[in-house]
Order: sequence, then structure tokens, then C-alpha cells
Amino acid sequence: MLNIQQQYQINRQQPSQNAHVQQHLSFKNSPYYGSYGAEGASDSAAKTLGSAALLQIIAMSLQTLSQWCSAKLMQGKAFAENDIARNIAKDMAVKNNLKVTLGYVDEANKYLFEQRYNSPGAFNEVARGANAFFNSKLNLAVAPKSKPYLILHEIGHAINSTKGPVMRFLQNSRFKLASLPTALLITNMFMPKSPKDGETFIERNAGKIGFAAFLPTIIEEGLASLRGIKAAKQAKAVYGNKINLAPLKKNYFFAWMTYVISGLLLGIGMKQTMLENK
Ligand SMILES: [Zn+2]
Repeated sequence: MLNIQQQYQINRQQPSQNAHVQQHLSFKNSPYYGSYGAEGASDSAAKTLGSAALLQIIAMSLQTLSQWCSAKLMQGKAFAENDIARNIAKDMAVKNNLKVTLGYVDEANKYLFEQRYNSPGAFNEVARGANAFFNSKLNLAVAPKSKPYLILHEIGHAINSTKGPVMRFLQNSRFKLASLPTALLITNMFMPKSPKDGETFIERNAGKIGFAAFLPTIIEEGLASLRGIKAAKQAKAVYGNKINLAPLKKNYFFAWMTYVISGLLLGIGMKQTMLENK
């Protein structure tokens, strides 16, 4: 996406960093769609069609659930007044020695961000309250001006990026997902088929492999949120009952669920890829 390459979205209604996952999960293009129960299909073909249709039903249900989570996230309430949330964000960055720039974007100031970071259009989603992100190259964390609480999660990503190679691996693994289907298909050509069921290891475990590939992202997203919640919790010592952790935890839970679902969908997508290329 323009020169913003490392973008973490808390809301996936308009996913860009997950675009490759979504692309792959375009079930409507499945050749099995609508052909379930075709006449004259052999036993094994019928079985394949049956599992393809079932996979598709599961995938569609998961997509609906993900949309529901996103909607819940969009309706989320603030855990504190905006000024307090911004103060907590600043403290969180200072305490962790981060050089990160914190930006709060709205329709009026988004052009200033576009100019400064030479990224036309990159802040539109944030400006309308539908996204927040951390960019490690620019060392920039942004959230909508109307929802500053979203930035705590992004600062969580910023902290993760300073925590050594394992954490950085978790953080960056998502950018390699685009090549996963091709890599699996190519590897699969060299895998021996089991005499028992005529399937290779990859064909048998495609779903698990797909989910496992997304697991680092799920873990890193969860950690980013936990760091944000921890900062808000510590701030209770200063702000007392002006802070209500429940809505923050709820928001971050729904955001995290969209990532868990993406992982499940990637697993299903891998399984479908294997079925389609059998
Ligand atoms: Zn995130």
C-alpha cells in the first residue's frame, strides 16, 4: 500500500494487509461452487464435492461472524475520555523508550499526514474512524481522533517491534503469507502419497498448516492488545474510576477475534486449494 508497507489494522472491514489472505479466500471462484451433487459424479468425486461444499458453508459462516465482530468493534465505547486515553498513550510510549510518533487523524488533518509521510490516501480509513495502524518503518502509530483508545493496541505493536528477533518474526510473518498457497502446491508435488488414503502429508494437513501459518500473527496481535490493556490498567492508579477497563477489553477482544477467524479461513482456504488441485 503506497509507501506504507507495514500496516497493522485493528479493523478488517477494509483489509489491506490481509488482502492476500482475503484474495485467496475468494470462495465464490471455487470451481465446486454450485456444482455440488452433480449427476454422474463418481464416489470419490462426490466425496470431494461434499467436503468442498461443507468447507464453503463453514467459511461463509466464519465470514459472517467476522463481520459481526467488526461491527461490534465499530460500535465500541471509549474506556476513558479522549484526553485521558491520549495521556495514557503518551505515557506508554515514554515508559517503553519508544521514539514512535503518535498521530490522531480526522478529516480535517488527514492531508497534513498524507503530505508529511508522502502517502496519498493512506489515512482515509483512519480519518473516518474505521482503522488504526502502526508503521515500523515510519515509526508512526495513528488512530482516529474520535477513537484515541485504538492507539494503545498500536503502541503495543511498537513495543513488540523492539523486543528482539522472536517478536519481530511473529510480527513480520504475515507478510510472507501471500506465497503460502504456491509454496504448498509446489512442495506437494514432491511429497509421497500414502498407500493408505492416497494423500500426501500436505493434502491431509492443509487446514492445520494454513492455520499454523497465521498463528504468529494471532499471537502478536493478542500481545499488542494485552500491552494496551496493561497500560490502561496501570493508569487507574492516576485516574481512578475515570477509567473503565471493560469496554477496552471488549473492543480488543472483538478485534482479536477477527484475526482468529482469519486464521481459520486461511486454513480452510489451504484445504480448498488442495482439493481444487487434486
Ligand atoms: Zn494489531
